[in-house]
Amino acid sequence: MARRQIVRIDEELCNGCGACVTPCAEGAIQLVDGKARVLREELCDGAGFCLGVCPTGALSIEEREAVPFAADLAEAEMEERGTAYIRQTCHVCGQGEDSRVLLPCRNAGQSLWVCTRCLPALIHG
Ligand code: SF4
Repeated sequence: MARRQIVRIDEELCNGCGACVTPCAEGAIQLVDGKARVLREELCDGAGFCLGVCPTGALSIEEREAVPFAADLAEAEMEERGTAYIRQTCHVCGQGEDSRVLLPCRNAGQSLWVCTRCLPALIHG
């Protein structure tokens, strides 16, 4: 165990939409009985990329004692899931994450991905 950052899921706020499952690059978040859960803490690196896509604010990052992040296990988990990974695209230009860097953003109650080329236009209008 080590003190580190790790995702925290507020069960009261989670509506089970599943939007956070795919953005988690490590495969740490899964839906169980209609609620998002971190079943294996060693798969969560605490980077917080899942936070921006949650429509209810159920996700946050906390610092506490947890098993250390294991990059090799996270990689194996995602490889085992294979085609379960859904490639994300920019909601403005439609380009995918294989050709652009995508960031999560919130707009008019929606959680959306935007690429770094489209982001300036969203910021400056
Ligand atoms: S995105 Fe938020 S509300 Fe949806 S399953 Fe994940 S934690 Fe729950």
